[in-house]
Formats: sequence, C-alpha cells, structure tokens
Amino acid sequence: MTATGPPLDALRPRLPSPLVAIEDGRLARHGVRLLLKRDDLIHPDLPGNKWRKLRLNLQAAADAGHDTLLTFGGAYSNHLRATAAAGRLLGFATVGVVRGDELATRPLNASLARAAADGMRLVFVDRSTYRRKAEPDVVEALRERFGRCYVVPEGGSNALAARGCADLGRELRGAADVVAVACGTGGTLAGLAAGLEPGAQRAIGFPVLRGGFLDAAVRGLQEDAFGRRIGDWRLDGRFHHGGYARTTPELDAFAEDFAVRHGLAPDRVYVAKMLHGLFTLVDEGAFPPGTRLAAVVTG
Ligand SMILES: *Cc1c(COP(=O)(O)O)cnc(C)c1O
Repeated sequence: MTATGPPLDALRPRLPSPLVAIEDGRLARHGVRLLLKRDDLIHPDLPGNKWRKLRLNLQAAADAGHDTLLTFGGAYSNHLRATAAAGRLLGFATVGVVRGDELATRPLNASLARAAADGMRLVFVDRSTYRRKAEPDVVEALRERFGRCYVVPEGGSNALAARGCADLGRELRGAADVVAVACGTGGTLAGLAAGLEPGAQRAIGFPVLRGGFLDAAVRGLQEDAFGRRIGDWRLDGRFHHGGYARTTPELDAFAEDFAVRHGLAPDRVYVAKMLHGLFTLVDEGAFPPGTRLAAVVTG
C-alpha cells in the first residue's frame, strides 16, 4: 500500500516528517548527538503521531464502505480529536465514546470542544462500562445504537495502527542508532521498532502511565500486526512522574528549560517525559560517545 491514496489524499500529510538536529551541552559532554523527529508537524489538525496510527484504519474503513467511525478515549484524548478531524476532512461521521460523567465534563474542555466542533458525536459512559469497552456485548450495543460503523480501539492502537507506525521507523533508517518515543498504549513503539533497520537500530519507549502493563501490550500489538515480536526495543518505566497527565516540579523545570534552550515547548503529557528520560539516560552514561540519538516529537 502507498503512503496515501484516494481517499486519504484529502488529508495532505507532511511526510516524511522533518528531522532536526539540536545542540545541547548536556549531550555534547557525553559525545552524543540528538535529532528531533518532528511528527508533530505531520498535520495541523491531527495532533501528533495520530496520523500514522489512523492511516490504515481510515483506508480500511473506506475500502469496506463505512461512513461512520466509532472510537474511545478519555476526556483529554488526542486520539478522539484526531479521529474527529479526520472524519471532517474525509467525510466520515464520527462517534466518540468518552470515559466519564457528562455533567462533570460540561462545559467541554478544549479537546472535547474541538472534537465536537469537528462534528464528533460524544457519548459519555461510566467507568465500569468504559472498562468493558472491548467486550463483544458492549460493542454490539454501540453498533445497535449508532448503526453500521468502523470501530477503532482506545488510543487508536490496533494491528493496522502498528503497521502504519512502521513508516516512522523506516523514515529513521540510517539517521540514528537509538530512537526514543513516549508511550501511552504502545502502538507507536510497536510499529516504530518494527520499521527500524534490524541489527543496526534500537528503540526505547518511555511509558507516561504507571502500571507496567505496557511490555505485554506492545508484544501483543506486534504479534497481531507482524506475527511476532519484532525489532530491538525496551521500555524504561522510571519517568511517568506519577502517571497520566501528572507532573512533578522536576519535570516542569526540565520542560521549561528545554523550551528556553531550544525554542520548542515539549508537550507535558508525553514528549517532556520522554525527553527527560532520554537526557537522564545520557547523563547516566547509557550511550557510548558517538551515539546518534533520535527523539520522536509525537505531539
Ligand atoms: C497518543 C500519543 C502518544 C502515545 O502513542 P501510543 O501509540 O498510544 O503509545 C504519544 N505522544 C502523543 C503526543 C500522543 O498524542
């Protein structure tokens, strides 16, 4: 399959995403170099890496003649926003199943308001129903309510998403020895690792949630997408700073300092945690002098 094609041409993604070197004394001291892989610049309306995860799903939905996309997310989900934007641009109706109480979520936060403005129909479900969202009876009930629709799982992570993210790895071939990426559901890491050059490149994932479930999730996604565990990857779970959307004074200070030094304010939920982890590893001497690092700016 080509990177784009009808009907996805309408989205006009900027690919390959730009790769820019940054200068930083904390890295130079250890003899390592860093490139930022600017996936945040792929599309102005689809936040971050979500284009790569949605691409093959949108194609599959179109190929199967679907006119409605249904998916799931928390109240601050970039994936819901991206799905809503893709729906508007490509002519799909969209339904977003949101975890939480509608009353508690009104007025809508900026992220949900944007999704609603893009035409997404928002449906709020309680936490226990949300937890069972992948179970057949729950999905069936949603299909009965909204009609025939293409269902994308939470965070957009499924086998097609992982396969779409393999392009990220392929775009980095020859450019870096080690690639760092922030992980939510792990779909991006699963694909990235599969697309890197075997034996020559490796990936490190930095989970932004607590819990230690991610290793199995990434393996499972790789098995679904590629039939096996593939590529050289590992996780470093030390940098979640308390969990999803949580922060610490140390992380805030790191992110503010990074913005001053490099003119790029890293997204606090994902990218700042990954960069903080990567700079800590450099400081710990984890990479021999001469190592070329790449950090994926996913949003
Ligand atoms: C969704 C998202 C991620 C995490 O991607 P996963 O495939 O769920 O691991 C990372 N960074 C940003 C900015 C995101 O929006």
